[in-house]
Amino acid sequence: MIKELIDTLFEFQNLPDGDLLYILDNMDANTFDYLSRKADEKRRQFYDNQIYMRGLIEFTNFCQQDCAYCGLRKSNTKITRYRMKLEQILDCCEKGYDLGFRTFVLQGGEDPWFNDDRLEEYVRTIKNKFPEVALTLSVGERSRESYKRLYDAGVNRYLLRHETASPSLYESLHVGMSLENRKRCLHDLKEIGYQVGAGFMVGLPGQTHEDLVMDLRFLYELKPHMIGIGPFIPHSDTPLANATKNTIDLSLTMISLTRLMVPDALLPATTAMGTLDRYGRERAIKAGANIVMPNLSPIDAKQNYEIYQNKICVNDDVTHCRGCIEMRIKNIGYEVNMSRGDHYEFNKSNQQY
Ligand code: SAH
Repeated sequence: MIKELIDTLFEFQNLPDGDLLYILDNMDANTFDYLSRKADEKRRQFYDNQIYMRGLIEFTNFCQQDCAYCGLRKSNTKITRYRMKLEQILDCCEKGYDLGFRTFVLQGGEDPWFNDDRLEEYVRTIKNKFPEVALTLSVGERSRESYKRLYDAGVNRYLLRHETASPSLYESLHVGMSLENRKRCLHDLKEIGYQVGAGFMVGLPGQTHEDLVMDLRFLYELKPHMIGIGPFIPHSDTPLANATKNTIDLSLTMISLTRLMVPDALLPATTAMGTLDRYGRERAIKAGANIVMPNLSPIDAKQNYEIYQNKICVNDDVTHCRGCIEMRIKNIGYEVNMSRGDHYEFNKSNQQY
C-alpha cells in the first residue's frame, strides 16, 4: 500500500494530504530505502548526478528578530556580534572565486544597519567585481520595494525559509512576526523574478506529521526554485534549549518527499544534517538533495554565526572544505559541479547579470 502511494507520488507529483500523512505515519527503514531511491531517480531526470556548490558568506549576525530556536535572536546577549566590512566580503568572494565557486550566498540576521542604500552598495560592488557569478541574498523579511531594488542591483536569488507552514506553530516560535508576511515576501520575491528558496525545519518542539504535511502542501503550491530542509538543533541560549533533537531520519524522509513533489527544485544537503550525523550530507544527497554550501566566511565569523551549536567545519579553512566535500561527493558516486547551477527553468537568456 505505502509503496503504491510512493509510486503514485513519483508519477503525479501529488497525493491528497491524508495519503502524505499515511506515508509519514508508516515510514520504516525498508520503505525509506524505496522512497529515497525513487527521489534519487527523480532528481536524475532533471540534474543527473551533479551536485552544485554554493559559497556561503555569513556577513552579519546582528538580528532584530527573536525567533525562539535561533542563536542569533536579539534576546541572546551571550553571542559576540559582528558585521563584515565590504572589503572583508570581497576577500571571501575572491578566495571562493579562485577555488572555482560561481555562486555566492550572502546570509545574515535581520540587521537594520543594512538599510537599502548600504546593502545595495555592497551588492553592486560585489556584482561589478564578479559579474558572471550568481549572487544570492538571505537576509530575512524586507519590503517589496527593497527586494526590487536589490534585484535591480544585481541579486539573482533569495533564500527565505518559511520555517514551518503550520500557522499555530509559526506563531508560537516567532513573537512579533507572522506567517502571512513570510509568505508575502516569498510571493513578492518570485514575482520580481528572483530564483527563490523556501524551506523548513524538521523536529521543532510540538511539530506533528500534520504540520509537515502542511509544509509539503505549501511547497507544492509555491513551487520554489530552492528548498532548504534541515533538522532543528537546540541552542542552549534560546528558550528551546532543552528540546530533543535526533530527527535525521525524518529530515531525510522530508527531503525525499519534497523531491517527488517539487521535482526540479534545488535541494541543499544542509550543514545541520552534517552536524547531527557525520554522513548526514551524504545521506541527504542519496535521498534526493543536490546542493552543498561550503562556508567561505573567515574562521572568527563562522564561530560567531552560531544559529545552533557544534556546527561542523567552523575551524576549517575553505580550501580544506572544498577538497573534503569533493571527496565525500565522489565517494558516494556523484559529481561536483562548480558552475552557477541555475534552476532548471532559468537559462542564460532570461538571466540578468
Ligand atoms: N535571517 C535570515 C537567515 C536565517 S539563518 C532569514 O530570516 O532567512 C538560516 C536558517 O537557519 C533559518 O532560516 C532557519 O531555518 C535555520 N535555523 C535557525 N536556527 C536553527 C536551529 N536552532 N537549528 C536548525 N536550523 C536553524
